Amino acid sequence: MATKRRDLLRQLAALPLVGGMFGTAAFRAADRLPVRPGRDYYKELGLRTFINAAGTYTALTGCLITPEAVDAYNYASGQYVTLDDLQDKVGERLAELIGCEAATVTAGAASAITLGTAGVLTGLDSKKASRIPNDMTGMKTEVIIQKSHVIGYAHAIKNCGVNIIEIETLKELEDAINEKTAMLWFLNANNFLGKIQYKEFIEVGKKHGIPMMIDCAADVPPVENLWKYTDMGFDLVCFSGGKGLRGPQSCGLLLGRKDLIAAARLSAPPRGDTVGRGMKVNKEEILAMMIAVETYLNRDHEKEWKLWESQIQLIHDHAASVAGVTPEIHVPEIANHVPSLRIRWDQEKVKITPNEVRQALRNGHPSIETVGGGESVDITTWMMNPGEERAVARRVKEILVAAAS
Ligand SMILES: *Cc1c(COP(=O)(O)O)cnc(C)c1O
Repeated sequence: MATKRRDLLRQLAALPLVGGMFGTAAFRAADRLPVRPGRDYYKELGLRTFINAAGTYTALTGCLITPEAVDAYNYASGQYVTLDDLQDKVGERLAELIGCEAATVTAGAASAITLGTAGVLTGLDSKKASRIPNDMTGMKTEVIIQKSHVIGYAHAIKNCGVNIIEIETLKELEDAINEKTAMLWFLNANNFLGKIQYKEFIEVGKKHGIPMMIDCAADVPPVENLWKYTDMGFDLVCFSGGKGLRGPQSCGLLLGRKDLIAAARLSAPPRGDTVGRGMKVNKEEILAMMIAVETYLNRDHEKEWKLWESQIQLIHDHAASVAGVTPEIHVPEIANHVPSLRIRWDQEKVKITPNEVRQALRNGHPSIETVGGGESVDITTWMMNPGEERAVARRVKEILVAAAS
């Protein structure tokens, strides 16, 4: 599979249009200036725009879609195709690019979870699809999850009318499996928090012949994660399209077994009498998602990483220059695996709370969004336009200095 993927990328590189992206694509997206000629729609609406020093948050509208994906979006808007033909072809291309058996574009990772679950339940029986979630006759009704992997997004599974069975140990997992067990679900980000990790989990699923789904929504970079989990043996893998991949915020990817992806699509638009009918992805988004993946695979990931490191270092150094402030650089092991900064300080010396700093950053010019709890201000730079880190560094320092005197 990996060889096939590389071959395809080489072929794409040989095309004049795509070949031009090699080497230069890494920062093209980010080079786009936030202010462009023409109407200023956000201004007309009286909306606040901001520097995103927080990361990929739905509430903050996720990511900035790459210009390549915008081009694809605009291209798609000019001509009709049938939705199923488009999903078929884009799915094939995505599977080739990523190196998995099959793929489809969904309305976000949460939608990938719902549609994938539906596919596991219905197989290729569209009558069953029309009965989810109210009449589960003839379908399995239990999905097993480790307690430490249960998060709000598990609601996307429950949409399909199944119950979540929580377990902790390998023995509990074995004991919980019965004739009603439809699927085993895994949250990649919490692999190290659970008592059962990949290898044992997959062994159990394979032994009992139960499909396994993994939620990898926020888990690129690194790019290899796109194929790591199907290669590992998971039957279905879910990614967000509008996080690290920088496709449309309303898109996601469902990757994995051909039979299960085909089954999942029985619950997806245009089919109306389904749990997924409200999860429409339009032609523009589908094509833009495909091109976002292509662009992501061709990116100079090392160069991009070095840029993020230098940006984080700059903000770190500005914060650290204020007496009593102790910023710390870290990289989360799985989800949001990018250089990140956690700024803490001695509130006896710097008399301001993290909430007040976040508010001051938000209210300042330019407005800056950060995250963190009551203990720290947390920053990443991977969702910024290059250069914006300078404004963030300056504002962070200004606010902390003012509170220190
Ligand atoms: C973001 C996220 C989701 C939801 O992804 P969408 O693409 O917004 O639907 C699901 N699971 C996890 C772990 C996430 O981080």
